[in-house]
Amino acid sequence: MDSAAPKDEGSTWDVVVVGGGPVGCAVGLELRRHGVRCLVIEKDAVTPRYPVKAMLLNPRTLEFMRRWGIADDIRAAATTPEGWRKGVTFATSLTGKDLGHFRDGFDFRASEEGDDVSEGAQVIMQPDTLRVMRAALLESGATYRDGVTVDEVVDGPDGVVVTITDQATGGVSTLHAAYVVGADGPQSIVRSTAGIQRSGRGGIAANLLLHFRVEGLLDEAGPTPAAFTSLTSPAGSALVVPIDRETWCAHVAGHPVDVDVDKLDVEAIVRRIIGADRPFEVVYAGAYKIHERIADEYRAGRLFLAGDAAHLYAPFGGHNMNSGFGDAVNLGWKLGAVVNGWADDSLLDTYGPERRPIAVTNATEASSNVARFVGAARGIIEEMAGTDVDAPGVEAEARRRGWGDRLWQGTKLQYVARGITLDQRYVSAAVADDDGDVAPWTSMTYTPSAKPGHRLPHVWLEDGSSLYDHLAPGLTLLAAPSASVSAERFRQAAVAAGTPLEILEMNDLALRVKCGAPLVLVRPDQHVAWRGHGVEDADAVLAVATARTVSTGVSGAA
Ligand SMILES: Cc1cc2nc3c(=O)[nH]c(=O)nc-3n(C[C@H](O)[C@H](O)[C@H](O)COP(=O)(O)OP(=O)(O)OC[C@H]3O[C@@H](n4cnc5c(N)ncnc54)[C@H](O)[C@@H]3O)c2cc1C
Repeated sequence: MDSAAPKDEGSTWDVVVVGGGPVGCAVGLELRRHGVRCLVIEKDAVTPRYPVKAMLLNPRTLEFMRRWGIADDIRAAATTPEGWRKGVTFATSLTGKDLGHFRDGFDFRASEEGDDVSEGAQVIMQPDTLRVMRAALLESGATYRDGVTVDEVVDGPDGVVVTITDQATGGVSTLHAAYVVGADGPQSIVRSTAGIQRSGRGGIAANLLLHFRVEGLLDEAGPTPAAFTSLTSPAGSALVVPIDRETWCAHVAGHPVDVDVDKLDVEAIVRRIIGADRPFEVVYAGAYKIHERIADEYRAGRLFLAGDAAHLYAPFGGHNMNSGFGDAVNLGWKLGAVVNGWADDSLLDTYGPERRPIAVTNATEASSNVARFVGAARGIIEEMAGTDVDAPGVEAEARRRGWGDRLWQGTKLQYVARGITLDQRYVSAAVADDDGDVAPWTSMTYTPSAKPGHRLPHVWLEDGSSLYDHLAPGLTLLAAPSASVSAERFRQAAVAAGTPLEILEMNDLALRVKCGAPLVLVRPDQHVAWRGHGVEDADAVLAVATARTVSTGVSGAA
């Protein structure tokens, strides 16, 4: 044997996930939900506290966390003080006056105040999200190795050979996998190995990211406490979130892509964000670039991309990591179905067609959010110039309300994005045809629909439990009592095909109305594969849900 050749560890995995960031952990958690043997490899042995990066988990992400059994742990790990976890406030500065408060921004209360979701959004700093997810990953039985770099990924006829370096020992070795998921971020080695190009624009603009510490600010009578505070004053604009009782995170948009933070007067920027003379300490000052880049393919042979490895867009609106979790769930159950032998490899071909269009939409929306944020503030900043924006009196108050309303109207698509978070509509070979009517898609609105490809409408059941808590890890057939003959056909077809299927009696009237059919076949990712009034050939429907045959000709009309 060549002495320079890497040592073969001899281990073979169903799936190796490259990258133990949030999306890599999510892929691992989803794979474990389906019993897949997986190894997650992370190069960093330590996750720095700053910068905190993603701060918002949207309701759909919390629904995933709930499936993985960690929604409560996520909420418990959040460091943002109670009272500052909901709503959006527009204000002149952190010690200034309200321009307006919008309690429903970002859907923090969605699960308490309606049927549409099982969980509301949550403010939590990315390192804390990661800590909870990694702990859950280990508990789930996945193998997680950090301090290990993936150097090469070779997709060969017998599977994928992964070459790694253990940073502590410098030892280079190889291991084997049936499939590899690249959740290895923007510089993805899996993407470059796979030869996948990205389309779109890079380096569109840059935002400053500042973290600063001020004692006691939270207890002062300033603007209405909110998870996100959008500041506009004659000196500029910023979006601010309290990380904990003393530390704040501020995004300052609208800088040139080559901004040199060292040449900026960061202290002056922080001073105007605070809006009063208070001692403070800047604990992090950096800049991040806005990109709009999406991988042309999400799959090449046995290699797949997820999260930032597949798509990059501006964080305004918080769609990036959140949509990476959507990738993870979509890909995870499909890999699980193939590894466990109840779907063919062709199911994996539906991953890109289902997830890539979501990224394309998100990229456009996210860039528009930045432009709207900067644009809406610009005119108002000009109007504010030379005025005392915090002046007392009825007239000054009315002026502030007017500015606040305009800011809300100009930027609300950033804070109200139910279409993006809840109304992801898949069209692929794993979704049946259905000519049922559906409300036109908009980024702000969500109308529940069980049209195949849509997220199953959520309801709170009579006993107070979430419908989603009753869905099986495999396929679930929701069946009204009137459809028991067809349900039995499904049961028999599933047994014959070796497809894991549980049948859930659909007694809830509100759910039946929302579903628009007495039979609804739900995939493991809570999206609808098929719906109908009855079925003769249940195997043909199961074949579509697992992409064994193309969907043409299998509709809910039977
Ligand atoms: C300032 C800022 C604010 C943001 N706010 C939000 C927000 O509010 N909401 C939101 O949804 N998103 C937000 N984002 C985006 C979010 O941070 C990213 O989308 C998220 O980190 C993507 O997760 P990921 O796991 O795909 O990639 P990453 O977080 O980049 O993780 C990839 C991992 O792979 C590892 N890795 C890379 N190469 C290798 C290798 N060769 N071998 C082994 N390991 C490797 C890396 O060390 C890393 O841990 C924000 C980003 C920024 C910069």
